[in-house]
Amino acid sequence: MVNLDDARQALHKYFGYESFRPGQEGLVSAILEGRDCLGVMPTGAGKSICYQIPATLLPGLTVVISPLVSLMKDQVDALEDAGIHADFINSTQTPEEQSLALAQAAQGRCHMLYVAPERLDAPRFVDFASRAGIGLVAVDEAHCVSQWGQDFRPAYLGIGDFIKGLPDRPVVAAFTATATQKVRRDIVAMLGLKTPYVAVTGFDRPNLFFDVRKLQTKYKNGWITRYAHEHPGDSGIVYCATRKETEALADDLNRSGIGAAAYHAGLSADDRERAQRDFVNDEIQVVVATNAFGMGIDKSNVRYVIHHNMPESIEAYYQEAGRAGRDGEPARCTLLWNEGDIVTRRRLLDMDSGNDRLTGEQAEAVRAEHRRLLNVMIGYCRTTGCLHEYMLRYFGQEVDRAAAGLAPTEADRGAVVCVGHPDMENGEEEEDQGEAPAQAGSQGRSRSGRSAAGCGPEEPTAEGRGCGNCSNCMSTFETLDVSDVARAVSRCVHDVNQAFGSGKIVQILKGSRSQDLLRRGLDGCPSYGSLAQVPEGRIRDVLNQMASDGYLTITEGRLPMVHFGPLAGRTVTPDFHYEIKRVQGTVLSGEGGRPADDAGAVYGRTTGPASQAEGRDRAGETMSVEDLTGDQAVLFQELKDLRTRIAREIGKPPYIVFSDKSLRDMCRLKPTDDAAFLEVNGVGEHKLEVYGPRFMEVIRKS
Ligand code: ADP
Ligand code: ZN
Repeated sequence: MVNLDDARQALHKYFGYESFRPGQEGLVSAILEGRDCLGVMPTGAGKSICYQIPATLLPGLTVVISPLVSLMKDQVDALEDAGIHADFINSTQTPEEQSLALAQAAQGRCHMLYVAPERLDAPRFVDFASRAGIGLVAVDEAHCVSQWGQDFRPAYLGIGDFIKGLPDRPVVAAFTATATQKVRRDIVAMLGLKTPYVAVTGFDRPNLFFDVRKLQTKYKNGWITRYAHEHPGDSGIVYCATRKETEALADDLNRSGIGAAAYHAGLSADDRERAQRDFVNDEIQVVVATNAFGMGIDKSNVRYVIHHNMPESIEAYYQEAGRAGRDGEPARCTLLWNEGDIVTRRRLLDMDSGNDRLTGEQAEAVRAEHRRLLNVMIGYCRTTGCLHEYMLRYFGQEVDRAAAGLAPTEADRGAVVCVGHPDMENGEEEEDQGEAPAQAGSQGRSRSGRSAAGCGPEEPTAEGRGCGNCSNCMSTFETLDVSDVARAVSRCVHDVNQAFGSGKIVQILKGSRSQDLLRRGLDGCPSYGSLAQVPEGRIRDVLNQMASDGYLTITEGRLPMVHFGPLAGRTVTPDFHYEIKRVQGTVLSGEGGRPADDAGAVYGRTTGPASQAEGRDRAGETMSVEDLTGDQAVLFQELKDLRTRIAREIGKPPYIVFSDKSLRDMCRLKPTDDAAFLEVNGVGEHKLEVYGPRFMEVIRKS
């Protein structure tokens, strides 16, 4: 019987890692004991190890079901490089290649076989599976089985039947980064997990700097281009909402001299593959992508992820942003947003007819759930509290709910372990506060001076307070009472009979002398010129925030018009009060000459001394590039060059040879014999054998 010691040895032997990370150990033990399990861990936490290690130790074949067809080859390459025999079956192969892979797997030549869910009911695969002696089925991205999530994939519904059809029921292990309770319940039910061991790891990623910036759409591309220039040599991913935006921004970047490629589902498979390879191989610096990019990508040295637009949920955001800094080194996650983005998201959501498997009632329930997720996302954009805390509280709260939902009996409750989550002990009090983000958005309550998110410090954060690793903790905020502006906007919408768009409303309130306005006689409106003293940007912001809060709605169509929303009546009540927040100052240098944020409207002024916040080593355990001394920096570059040469020779991405972290460890330890080389993070026996001599030669000469 294999045990955890064997697992630790395998971890060191194949991957060169010293110890399991939180959550991994429990999941590996459960699998080794033959128990089903569900691992909920954020992107980058190390889900794959949880089934890869058991696969090397257990008798029988491990089948990994993954939706990530384009990545299977890389995953298999990386495993082979670690000395683990693996193969894959998917639609990119010819029938002959598929037959060969199956034949080899049937002969017990590999530990692991990756398959796309669409393969599972192919007669040839069913036949193979019935004879292959499958000991473990690992389901990656298991949330794809649920219609509640955004990544629903119909073929996942066939996994349960596939498992039932096997002659001997294997252990089933499911993995996801999605924290919502409904999705998790679906996973357990649809995959038929039997009293699973559930591990939920802490969702904090201390090496990530979270940054939220309110920025008008027209400034976004310029901001991103400048950011890329200020971080030369750093790899970055930019997520955009539409294909068109990805192409426009990639063009801007290329024109400005930054190597960039667009990536979206509308491109040919070849183009997408090229973009991905160039990025992974460090041939280009930036990928500008829709959310089609990156699921499961393991490029460990992504230094920044910028969102050009607000995603539809915190889960989606965390998953995408989490692709930064997988090597544990400092990395930055920036979210650019504005009130207009919120309005667009809400509109898309209302228009979404769901999928046709659902009844009208079910589709509405799904939409309501999506609305809830969106509201939490909006809360993240608007909060003045700590962004790390906001995430933790959100995920913690979902963890609590999931624990209750998944484990109704005492016995089951014992199965739920939540690892490394500081909020877990705090019980009910947290629950209530945690609801706040959703309410603030959905009910459009005017927010008081207290934090909109209900988490984090209420007072403007003082310098040095908070986590020191997010833009809110590095800024001070002021809350502006804009009740008068909001009232005037509302009155103006009434004056023009809800028949004009936001541009005209702002013009009227400013008292513009534009010909068009005068010709239509709009200067006769009672509200004409009533906000002449208020900056235009401010009026626009208030209007947009009112639309996202439900006081106004903006209609669809070619000429969107401003109508009253469900809460419009409140603006005429005597106690109506409305606020927006704005950054008063920041102790964060931003990036040197910080590009004009929302041009004076809401965010803008940069005060206070520039601190060295960025690039400071938050994780406290690793050196960042800047920390290497002169000699070490030279060696680092030499090792990187060697890595690139080897990667070209073997036709694999550089990170598969060694991560940046491993190279930095080599600079620090300067190993010149096998035993010392094995001490380097990420060096296992196989890598020592195939790459060790060449790296040690370079180190000896240094
Ligand atoms: P996920 O699937 O959860 O997004 P991965 O399995 O791709 O994450 O792992 C992310 C990175 O962390 C990989 O580079 C992996 O090799 C590394 N990793 C995983 N487990 C450990 C560990 N115990 N010690 C050190 N590094 C680890
Ligand atoms: Zn913070």
